[in-house]
Amino acid sequence: VEPRLVSARASVITPRLILIVIRDITERERVEEMRRDFVANTSHELKTPVGAVSLLAEAVESAADDPDQVRHFASRLSAEAARLSQLTSRIMNLSRLQSADDLTELRDVSVDEVVAAAIESQSVAADSAAITVARGGERHAYVRGDVQVLTEAVANLVANAIAYSPQGGQVGVGVKLDGGVVEIAVTDRGIGIPEDEQERVFERFYRADQARSRRTGGTGLGLSIVKHAVQRHGGEVEVWSRPGRGSTFTVRLPAVPAPDDLPIPKKRKK
Ligand code: ADP
Repeated sequence: VEPRLVSARASVITPRLILIVIRDITERERVEEMRRDFVANTSHELKTPVGAVSLLAEAVESAADDPDQVRHFASRLSAEAARLSQLTSRIMNLSRLQSADDLTELRDVSVDEVVAAAIESQSVAADSAAITVARGGERHAYVRGDVQVLTEAVANLVANAIAYSPQGGQVGVGVKLDGGVVEIAVTDRGIGIPEDEQERVFERFYRADQARSRRTGGTGLGLSIVKHAVQRHGGEVEVWSRPGRGSTFTVRLPAVPAPDDLPIPKKRKK
């Protein structure tokens, strides 16, 4: 019996099994390469603000006798520190979304509430640029997901729409429910994105040329976070844009039925 068992085992190592093993190794290598790239890009991106912080700290020290100068450098120092803190928290969020860990807080989420919270979180930026953010469309759409991750994704789109719009501009956030799919579209009439850069804006740390000169505060991580957040929810995001005319970012997510406890609208008797 023994020898036969061995030969039966040996025959289990088929070309197909070898292929699966190779595929698994390739996948592991790919993940490892992604991780290495991520660490390399991230360290590079952190160098600039860290360098600025240490230069500004030196400037504060050497201006010790001049209170106005001290105040000036101290306020730039705190702006740079805030940027550094935003950058690190975005890096952490992105790395969490890219990892294999499951999203933890899954529940039925009202898209209306997500959109409202996302707009609210950007109200200071909108007010300071006199930009109105209008919201419209379907109010009873639901998706299954992590409310914080989804809110951050929509907030990033709204933040960009505001940041790349002219003073006094208009931004719209519309929700549609269509055949089991929820569509959230964020539209602006701002600077737009050249066609050859539209694919690349979702890459981490990528910033289009125009944006680099226009908005120094950006991290180039916002859209990468949006893409991963949406993909983790089984959805997709796409961009439509025309330079000088504006942009629309559309997120599509699988819809779930509205929770039972919602009042069902009564049909009027004729
Ligand atoms: P950033 O922090 O630079 O805004 P993002 O990842 O959010 O990073 O966006 C990447 C790049 O995509 C931006 O630097 C900008 O070039 C472009 N972009 C994103 N949203 C818009 C928009 N609404 N209008 C014009 N350009 C945009």
